[in-house]
Amino acid sequence: MHRAIESFVQDELGDWVAILVCGHGQHVRHKPPFFPRPWVLAEDTRTARIGTPLECVRCDRFELPPAFTAYKRTPEFEASTIPAALRKDHSTKPGVWGVIHVTAGQLQYIVEAPLARESVVDAEHPGIVVPEVLHRVSPIGEVRFFVEFHRRPPV
Ligand SMILES: [Zn+2]
Repeated sequence: MHRAIESFVQDELGDWVAILVCGHGQHVRHKPPFFPRPWVLAEDTRTARIGTPLECVRCDRFELPPAFTAYKRTPEFEASTIPAALRKDHSTKPGVWGVIHVTAGQLQYIVEAPLARESVVDAEHPGIVVPEVLHRVSPIGEVRFFVEFHRRPPV
Protein backbone atom coordinates (compact mmCIF):
# COMPACT_ATOMS: atom_id res chain seq x y z
CA MET A 1 0.00 0.00 0.00
CA HIS A 2 1.06 3.62 -0.45
CA ARG A 3 2.67 5.51 2.44
CA ALA A 4 3.83 9.11 2.41
CA ILE A 5 7.49 9.93 3.06
CA GLU A 6 7.91 11.62 6.46
CA SER A 7 11.67 12.18 6.60
CA PHE A 8 15.03 10.85 5.42
CA VAL A 9 17.93 9.33 7.33
CA GLN A 10 21.26 7.87 6.25
CA ASP A 11 22.27 4.31 7.07
CA GLU A 12 25.73 3.36 8.35
CA LEU A 13 27.02 3.26 4.74
CA GLY A 14 25.70 6.72 3.93
CA ASP A 15 22.85 5.45 1.76
CA TRP A 16 19.58 7.32 2.07
CA VAL A 17 16.53 5.73 3.69
CA ALA A 18 13.04 7.25 3.42
CA ILE A 19 11.10 7.01 6.69
CA LEU A 20 7.42 6.55 5.90
CA VAL A 21 4.46 7.70 8.04
CA CYS A 22 3.76 4.04 8.94
CA GLY A 23 7.18 3.84 10.65
CA HIS A 24 8.85 1.65 8.04
CA GLY A 25 12.10 2.64 6.37
CA GLN A 26 12.87 2.13 2.70
CA HIS A 27 16.19 2.61 0.91
CA VAL A 28 16.07 5.23 -1.82
CA ARG A 29 19.56 4.82 -3.28
CA HIS A 30 20.88 6.66 -6.28
CA LYS A 31 22.34 3.70 -8.24
CA PRO A 32 22.24 4.42 -11.96
CA PRO A 33 21.41 2.97 -14.41
CA PHE A 34 18.85 0.76 -12.62
CA PHE A 35 17.87 3.05 -9.73
CA PRO A 36 18.43 6.59 -10.96
CA ARG A 37 17.42 8.89 -8.10
CA PRO A 38 19.65 11.94 -8.41
CA TRP A 39 17.09 13.88 -6.34
CA VAL A 40 18.12 11.97 -3.21
CA LEU A 41 21.62 13.48 -3.22
CA ALA A 42 20.71 17.13 -2.60
CA GLU A 43 18.86 18.36 0.46
CA ASP A 44 16.43 20.64 -1.41
CA THR A 45 15.29 18.00 -3.93
CA ARG A 46 15.13 15.40 -1.15
CA THR A 47 13.01 17.64 1.06
CA ALA A 48 10.69 18.31 -1.90
CA ARG A 49 9.82 14.59 -1.85
CA ILE A 50 8.46 14.67 1.70
CA GLY A 51 4.76 13.88 1.60
CA THR A 52 4.97 11.92 -1.64
CA PRO A 53 3.97 8.23 -1.50
CA LEU A 54 6.07 5.10 -1.82
CA GLU A 55 4.79 1.55 -2.04
CA CYS A 56 5.29 -0.09 1.40
CA VAL A 57 5.48 -3.88 1.16
CA ARG A 58 6.09 -4.13 4.93
CA CYS A 59 2.64 -2.70 5.58
CA ASP A 60 1.26 -5.17 3.03
CA ARG A 61 2.87 -7.93 5.17
CA PHE A 62 1.45 -6.58 8.49
CA GLU A 63 4.98 -6.09 9.87
CA LEU A 64 5.05 -4.12 13.11
CA PRO A 65 8.07 -1.75 12.82
CA PRO A 66 10.74 -3.39 15.02
CA ALA A 67 11.79 -0.19 16.81
CA PHE A 68 8.24 0.64 17.88
CA THR A 69 7.23 0.16 21.52
CA ALA A 70 3.95 -0.33 23.37
CA TYR A 71 2.62 2.80 25.10
CA LYS A 72 -0.93 1.92 26.14
CA ARG A 73 -3.47 -0.85 26.13
CA THR A 74 -7.20 -1.29 26.40
CA PRO A 75 -8.89 -3.09 29.27
CA GLU A 76 -9.53 -6.78 28.69
CA PHE A 77 -12.81 -7.30 26.84
CA GLU A 78 -15.01 -10.35 26.59
CA ALA A 79 -17.69 -11.20 24.02
CA SER A 80 -20.39 -9.30 25.93
CA THR A 81 -18.25 -6.21 26.64
CA ILE A 82 -16.61 -5.56 23.27
CA PRO A 83 -17.15 -1.85 22.55
CA ALA A 84 -19.47 -1.35 19.57
CA ALA A 85 -16.77 0.78 17.92
CA LEU A 86 -14.46 -2.25 17.64
CA ARG A 87 -17.16 -4.31 15.92
CA LYS A 88 -17.61 -1.67 13.22
CA ASP A 89 -14.96 -0.57 10.73
CA HIS A 90 -12.48 1.73 12.45
CA SER A 91 -8.77 2.52 12.24
CA THR A 92 -5.83 3.79 14.27
CA LYS A 93 -4.15 7.15 13.71
CA PRO A 94 -1.13 7.63 11.42
CA GLY A 95 1.91 5.89 12.88
CA VAL A 96 -0.09 4.00 15.52
CA TRP A 97 0.03 0.20 15.31
CA GLY A 98 -2.09 -2.19 17.35
CA VAL A 99 -1.56 -5.74 18.55
CA ILE A 100 -4.71 -7.72 19.36
CA HIS A 101 -3.80 -10.12 22.18
CA VAL A 102 -6.36 -12.88 22.71
CA THR A 103 -5.98 -14.47 26.15
CA ALA A 104 -8.81 -17.02 25.78
CA GLY A 105 -10.93 -18.21 22.87
CA GLN A 106 -10.92 -16.86 19.32
CA LEU A 107 -11.69 -13.62 17.56
CA GLN A 108 -12.45 -13.04 13.91
CA TYR A 109 -10.35 -10.17 12.56
CA ILE A 110 -11.49 -8.54 9.31
CA VAL A 111 -9.24 -6.03 7.54
CA GLU A 112 -10.58 -3.90 4.69
CA ALA A 113 -8.89 -2.72 1.48
CA PRO A 114 -6.17 -2.07 0.53
CA LEU A 115 -4.96 -5.00 2.66
CA ALA A 116 -8.21 -7.04 2.61
CA ARG A 117 -7.58 -10.02 4.85
CA GLU A 118 -9.73 -12.10 7.15
CA SER A 119 -8.15 -14.21 9.88
CA VAL A 120 -8.75 -15.86 13.23
CA VAL A 121 -6.81 -14.39 16.15
CA ASP A 122 -6.04 -16.57 19.18
CA ALA A 123 -3.43 -16.81 21.94
CA GLU A 124 -0.79 -18.13 19.52
CA HIS A 125 -1.63 -15.76 16.65
CA PRO A 126 -1.97 -12.11 17.70
CA GLY A 127 -3.67 -9.76 15.24
CA ILE A 128 -1.56 -6.91 13.88
CA VAL A 129 -3.44 -3.65 13.29
CA VAL A 130 -1.87 -1.56 10.51
CA PRO A 131 -2.18 2.24 10.94
CA GLU A 132 -5.06 3.95 9.15
CA VAL A 133 -6.42 0.70 7.65
CA LEU A 134 -10.09 0.01 8.40
CA HIS A 135 -10.75 -3.18 10.35
CA ARG A 136 -13.22 -4.77 12.77
CA VAL A 137 -13.45 -7.75 15.08
CA SER A 138 -16.15 -10.25 15.84
CA PRO A 139 -16.16 -12.80 18.69
CA ILE A 140 -16.23 -16.51 17.89
CA GLY A 141 -18.05 -17.72 20.98
CA GLU A 142 -16.52 -16.79 24.32
CA VAL A 143 -13.33 -14.78 24.00
CA ARG A 144 -11.11 -12.53 26.09
CA PHE A 145 -8.71 -10.03 24.52
CA PHE A 146 -7.09 -6.64 24.78
CA VAL A 147 -5.42 -4.33 22.29
CA GLU A 148 -1.94 -2.93 22.84
CA PHE A 149 -0.89 0.23 20.94
CA HIS A 150 2.62 0.79 19.62
CA ARG A 151 4.36 3.87 18.25
CA ARG A 152 7.84 5.18 17.59
CA PRO A 153 9.60 5.62 20.94
CA PRO A 154 10.02 9.29 21.91
CA VAL A 155 13.53 10.58 21.15
ZN1 LIG B 1 4.80 0.58 6.02
